[in-house]
Amino acid sequence: MWNLLPNLYLSSTYDIDFEEMYRRGYRGVLFDIDNTLVGHNAPQDERSLALLAGLHDLGYKTAVVSNNKYERVSSFADPAGMFYVYKAGKPLGRGYRQAIEDMGLKSEEVFSVGDQIFTDVWGANRAGLFNILVRPLGKDIGFHIFLKRIIEKPIMLVVILRNRRMMRKFEQMSER
Ligand SMILES: [Mg+2]
Repeated sequence: MWNLLPNLYLSSTYDIDFEEMYRRGYRGVLFDIDNTLVGHNAPQDERSLALLAGLHDLGYKTAVVSNNKYERVSSFADPAGMFYVYKAGKPLGRGYRQAIEDMGLKSEEVFSVGDQIFTDVWGANRAGLFNILVRPLGKDIGFHIFLKRIIEKPIMLVVILRNRRMMRKFEQMSER
């Protein structure tokens, strides 16, 4: 159960305070693609490219960790200058560990962002990473995701009930 709970739950990837995370020592961000950076099956877009360029300017390395195929993942990551792991096998931890190794960082310097509990949150927790769950950017495509969303519901209730306390804990950490 605890492996299914994110450290933070936010309304969007685009609401994350990446500068604050940088101040806290994070140097790498691992992203899911679909419904995290762009809509499901959507191509790389201006908003996502601008975010990623801004992160690189701040000093971050970024990587995609995706269960999708080579073509989808490389065509998304390459124009943005991201590292990537395709067919990552989420919710296993190995794709995350591979991306961290490729970036040349330590796991405590890296956090993960994704929109699904049973792939993104579970996988990141298995790899021992700080992770942020975001609300999906758009509609899901595919029956298996539809099913996963139904199973997610009770867990989302716990996530939402717990999130205020997690946000407070996160804010207190910065005051040290
Ligand atoms: Mg996704």
